[in-house]
Amino acid sequence: MKVKVDGALCTGHGRCYSLAPEVFDVDDEGYSEPRDTMIDVPEEHEEATRHGARACPEGAISVVES
Ligand code: SF4
Repeated sequence: MKVKVDGALCTGHGRCYSLAPEVFDVDDEGYSEPRDTMIDVPEEHEEATRHGARACPEGAISVVES
């Protein structure tokens, strides 16, 4: 599974990295990082990643199931 944060949509609510800190990181201004880059998700973190993606109020996170 892969996931991508759309940098144009992310407004820094922080739900993604609160729910899946192993996958999503945070920059100095509170935005998710990396942005606009496909992130490989380890199998053990897939459920938390889906949860984080669903929780994003901006719909900024795309999940690509493998
Ligand atoms: S929850 Fe959405 S808007 Fe908030 S930091 Fe994560 S990607 Fe950005």
